[in-house]
Amino acid sequence: MPILLGCIADDFTGATDLANTLTRQGMATVVLLGVPREDVDVGDADAVVVALKSRSIAASDAVSQSLAALDWLRRRGARQTYFKYCSTFDSTDAGNIGPVAEALLEALKEDFTVACPAFPTNKRTVYQGYLFVGDVLLSESSMRHHPLTPMTDALLTRVLQRQCKGRVGLIDFSVVERGRAAIRDAMAQLRADGVRIAIVDALTDAHLVAIGEACADLKFLTGGSGLALGLPENFRRSGLLRMKEAGALPKFGGHAAVLAGSCSVATQRQVAKMKAGSNGFKIDPIALREDRMAVAKVLQWARPRLGREPVLICSTADPATVEKAQAALGRERAGQLIEAAMGEIAKGLAGMGVERLVVAGGETSGAVVTALGINGLRIGEEIDPGVPWTASLGGKPLALALKSGNFGADDFFLKAFQKLEAAHLESPLSPRERGRG
Ligand code: ADP
Repeated sequence: MPILLGCIADDFTGATDLANTLTRQGMATVVLLGVPREDVDVGDADAVVVALKSRSIAASDAVSQSLAALDWLRRRGARQTYFKYCSTFDSTDAGNIGPVAEALLEALKEDFTVACPAFPTNKRTVYQGYLFVGDVLLSESSMRHHPLTPMTDALLTRVLQRQCKGRVGLIDFSVVERGRAAIRDAMAQLRADGVRIAIVDALTDAHLVAIGEACADLKFLTGGSGLALGLPENFRRSGLLRMKEAGALPKFGGHAAVLAGSCSVATQRQVAKMKAGSNGFKIDPIALREDRMAVAKVLQWARPRLGREPVLICSTADPATVEKAQAALGRERAGQLIEAAMGEIAKGLAGMGVERLVVAGGETSGAVVTALGINGLRIGEEIDPGVPWTASLGGKPLALALKSGNFGADDFFLKAFQKLEAAHLESPLSPRERGRG
């Protein structure tokens, strides 16, 4: 089945954020990790988000990876292409937003697009082309000191123009406020004037929805995840997307486990809450270094305890303990030991029938997903804001919730499994049976 929307995201968390937004707006969405192989099966997905790591690499590499992703998406029939970058417009004068956007425009034989990073929910707004983070200009926010992409200029038309060969223009607040038709007229005027990319002001979600509507006929658009809010409705209006529960996942009945490799405050609370009444095993980097059998021992401990209720395996520790380990091993080595162990443990658990897995920690999630040979994720039910259940593609099918350290309420771990069960009680149909019209 051809996909409707093909997205290219310049980092992994941005990709899942966009995919989560699209799913909540009714599009069944899959995230693919890296430029996809030809034979990847995305099932009945309406939207595919290709997650690259192209934000801070050389512009020429970002362009070639993005073009390869575009090729794949076009072969799968994508009607519209979306280039997703950060809502703080992370880039330098060398790129990569401008060069990638222009290369994609050219490959699609299009001569105009929009650039709208605004994400009001997260307090990123654009007014007269200036990007605000909370109540300060981007150039006065902490982004000014970002180690890789320091943002010292808040005027996006100027920032983007320095990265582009074509002309950059602006559709300002006064136009956006008047809605879809006014935005469409402004786009036509700018296009006739030879502008190639227009920064678009947006202060509210209503603005983003109006801009999304005005972009219904653009083959290619660019923005943060906010601009995607209005896109599913376009496909619905044109009869291509049927109303459905897009976040439905297949049923996973196997054993449950939580792997926590984050030491962030929220994860510390979540671990403490879960440990109070349940199966827990603690690993630490010094023991991992000293005992070659450490992973085997974890798995041996877990085997008789596996079942419907989750086991918890964590390296989560307070700052003083982490500091001690880092002093003994070096920060990087300590992290690597835990990440490698979590990957091996995940593989071992999957081999013992674990099918439902919550992972806490961004780097930890990356290590687990790589060790399990997973190449994509179908987005499901949201557990807490920004953290959905997913079903893995490639490797052995698993239900996975990948949580960045500081996300989620204190009862996140237990709530996650309850939500997964409840979703299946409420919705007996498989995603395929719900299909789109
Ligand atoms: P978060 O999303 O909270 O930043 P990450 O998984 O991205 O979590 O990063 C946590 C890092 O800390 C990882 O590299 C992990 O291996 C490392 N780590 C976890 N536990 C410990 C520990 N007890 N001592 C030292 N380093 C640890």
